[in-house]
Amino acid sequence: MKILFINLPYYGHVVPTIGLVQELIKRGCEVTYLMPFDWKDTIADSGAEFYGYKNHRQLSEQIKNAYAAAERMIEEFDFVIYEQFFFIGKHLAEKYHKPVARVFTAPVTNKRLMEEFIASKGPLSIFKHKWIARAFTKDIARNIPMKTDNWLDEIIQNPPGLNLVYTLREYQPYEEEFPDEQYKFLGPSIYERKSCRFDFVKSESPVVYISLGTVIKGAVSFFQNCIDAFRFENIDVIISVGQKFDVKKLKNIPSNVHIYKSVPQLDVLKMADVFVTHGGMNSVSEALVCGTPMVVIPFVSDQPVNARCIEKLGVGKKLEYSIANANSIKNAIFSVASDDNMKANLAKMQRLITEAPGNQGGAEVIIQYHNEQT
Ligand code: UDP
Repeated sequence: MKILFINLPYYGHVVPTIGLVQELIKRGCEVTYLMPFDWKDTIADSGAEFYGYKNHRQLSEQIKNAYAAAERMIEEFDFVIYEQFFFIGKHLAEKYHKPVARVFTAPVTNKRLMEEFIASKGPLSIFKHKWIARAFTKDIARNIPMKTDNWLDEIIQNPPGLNLVYTLREYQPYEEEFPDEQYKFLGPSIYERKSCRFDFVKSESPVVYISLGTVIKGAVSFFQNCIDAFRFENIDVIISVGQKFDVKKLKNIPSNVHIYKSVPQLDVLKMADVFVTHGGMNSVSEALVCGTPMVVIPFVSDQPVNARCIEKLGVGKKLEYSIANANSIKNAIFSVASDDNMKANLAKMQRLITEAPGNQGGAEVIIQYHNEQT
């Protein structure tokens, strides 16, 4: 089977799919991955053939460029897979009579979740103005028959027959709205990156790991509060501040606080007793896989929803950024670290993740679905 995989240039939306491509190739499928030219190296690990389209700063142009490139080659493929933000993927496949599946690298969105994402000040917030959403949609989907006139509604209201979701059903908010036949919850897909240099040596002391991901910038006072919180504690604190952060802005760093621009997060999570995170989907999934309890300080986009899911599952605690000072950070960390119920809940999640279909199951579902459709 020849598969065309269409994605957009957003790291968190791409890396979980690499394992799926590898599993499809293992099962004899030929996969061509369509991404902007400058993403060729990221895709290389998947083993897929790479096909490029012109990158652009704007999402609308990225989608248009991807669509145009896909149209030039789709005839030679038997199956199309697209990531949810390429919202015209279903129309494209239908136009050329190809069976199609969609992947979600975060929980599936329904109307209420979409409203929350839009309200939470992330990049989607501009679409709270319906007329902007409609203009954006019209610009991209000119001549494409749509069910709705708003691309975000289209994602929710016009799903393809098969959707692969990179989380557990237990994690999915409003899970009852997503029937088993149409939505396959694969569990988290963790991409094992090449390890970066990391000189921390674990001692007997507990370890707290703090990271706000790769997007949030300039959290100087937050990191300083974390440093101050643990100044006199017999606890090793590892803080990943991000590549562009100016470490000189942090003052009086004691010897038990270890500041890095980037760490091999999976290795650190495995040794950490608590993870303080912004609640990015990849970080949350990695913590669940490693069984590390979380203090979640959500900022934008899906992070507030993730914080809620984490509290609902009893695997972490939410702390509002506005009240995150040295005391509240320390108290939240101590309460999470000493919670035995949380440990039991994390063990359960780890078991469910091991039992979940994963990318292997995802590849099998795709092949079976293709066979049923043709
Ligand atoms: N990450 C890492 N080392 C670090 C900090 C982050 O490898 O020092 C990785 C982390 O493992 C995760 C990703 O960067 O896979 C962050 O993704 P997430 O979705 O959590 O947040 P975002 O950066 O998109 O806000």
